[in-house]
Amino acid sequence: MATTKKAKYPRQPKFEHQRPLRIVDLHTAPRIASTVSPKLTYRGGPLLASVQVFAIFWGDAWNNPANSPLLTHMNEFFDFVLTSKLLDQLSEYSVPGQSVGHGTRKGSTVFTTSEPGKSVTDASIQAMLQTEIASGIFPAASSNSLYFVFLPPGTQVAQGGSKSCQTFCGYHDATSDNIFYAVMPYPGCTGCEGGLAIPDALTSTSSHELCEAITDPVPGKGWYDDANGEIGDICAWKTKTLGGYTVQLEWSNSADACV
Ligand SMILES: [Zn+2]
Repeated sequence: MATTKKAKYPRQPKFEHQRPLRIVDLHTAPRIASTVSPKLTYRGGPLLASVQVFAIFWGDAWNNPANSPLLTHMNEFFDFVLTSKLLDQLSEYSVPGQSVGHGTRKGSTVFTTSEPGKSVTDASIQAMLQTEIASGIFPAASSNSLYFVFLPPGTQVAQGGSKSCQTFCGYHDATSDNIFYAVMPYPGCTGCEGGLAIPDALTSTSSHELCEAITDPVPGKGWYDDANGEIGDICAWKTKTLGGYTVQLEWSNSADACV
């Protein structure tokens, strides 16, 4: 929102001593209030201009009939959303040589060679991706590849000194060898349900991470706002319905609003 009021307080400090924000916070977590209107600026890094999503449902629990409707729901969600207006609205973030457009779901798999267990670290998730991509179990990474890792009920993720369902509900990042990925823990807690049914909470947070991974695949190196974070962070937990799916609003520089 544009503000005509003069800021009374200095700008929030830049995230100089921490890694750029790439998580979706719990619904209950207070957002850092900025005194200036959000504005994403481009930092020169890669974008996922024609994103290719590969969904990985990690753990045998995804073969359980109790969980398979959610798996189907998420696959159908990607098939819809990757050619939807949600991606159309990201075209304003095109840069010379990288025209942001529609994407595709390249595939999905239930991965049971290993189990995530009750607690899994981000480092283990990165290692799993690197191993299975190198061995050809998962498709090779291109400059547009985005691997979405869905964790089963009961698995907590530890990343950056914090844990899912305690401080975050999902995140995206890049490995040192530029494998772009998002991690979506099962939203089985009040803070990650955000008052929504589980399938709606998961499409909301997945749309948040999807749009962030497209516009800022290497966190802080694409479109970013030093005071507010990435495109989805500015509008966290503000949702709309698109094609029957709950998706999150995303920040628009041109509209100066969450749209
Ligand atoms: Zn975010």
